[in-house]
Amino acid sequence: MKLMGAFFAATLSIVLSADHVHAQSTKAGVERLYVLNCGEGVAGDISRWSPGVNEGKSMDFVDNCYLIKHARGWFLWDTGISDTVATMPNGLPPADPRAVYWHRPKTLASQLEQLGVAPSDVKAVAISHTHADHIGNVEMFPNAMLYVQKLEYDWPGAGNAPRFKPEHPVTKLEGDRDVFGDGSVVIVATPGHTPGHQSLLVKLPKTGAVVLSGDAVHFKSNWENRGVPANNFNKEETLTSMQKISDTLTREGAQLWINHDKAQRDSLKMSPAFYD
Ligand SMILES: [Zn+2]
Repeated sequence: MKLMGAFFAATLSIVLSADHVHAQSTKAGVERLYVLNCGEGVAGDISRWSPGVNEGKSMDFVDNCYLIKHARGWFLWDTGISDTVATMPNGLPPADPRAVYWHRPKTLASQLEQLGVAPSDVKAVAISHTHADHIGNVEMFPNAMLYVQKLEYDWPGAGNAPRFKPEHPVTKLEGDRDVFGDGSVVIVATPGHTPGHQSLLVKLPKTGAVVLSGDAVHFKSNWENRGVPANNFNKEETLTSMQKISDTLTREGAQLWINHDKAQRDSLKMSPAFYD
């Protein structure tokens, strides 16, 4: 009887520990991804991004932010055009008329509110790079951990200005980073567009793997033709990073979601709909 009791207890403990592992594994990983409208605009001359191609032609651009619900908390990829642009009746004209004339049809704040997510609920923010159409709302999340490449963080801004408020919590990366340690959200270093540009690999339970481009590429034809914008920081690094993304897509069986590509975004579900 004693022996049977011991056997039963041992079996029970195996069942319990198996259950425990199962509970942990279902709690890990990404649950949902929302595509947020973080700006819309018109590029004055598309050849600025594709030298020698489509000179003088304008093209619609979009700008996305991506809000990720991980089992361990909310994570935001890119913050888009500043919400203050939403209050400008004529939008934000560019200094160079060939660049993008931006509008903000919806604020980031209103889209978070619609989802019932307070800015203070967002515990971590990562930005692809420090151009204004990606970092416009970083300070909406003053206490969120900011994930940025050290090379980007230390890149002097106009007039040697720092790229971020020195008091903002930051993790300065030197290469790739598995954010939650479970492989579900991985920052992929893709320098070239800027010194410390990065992209994001996200593994969704039903949708599968997706790579969020940042500005490693701006639109589909540039991806297919390996077009490099004339203003990129480093052309060779850009091409190496495009190959790294291509290898990642193959290895992970991932889709590539190109941030500024309007035709592609028009095919995506926008928040409050989501990908799981
Ligand atoms: Zn950029």
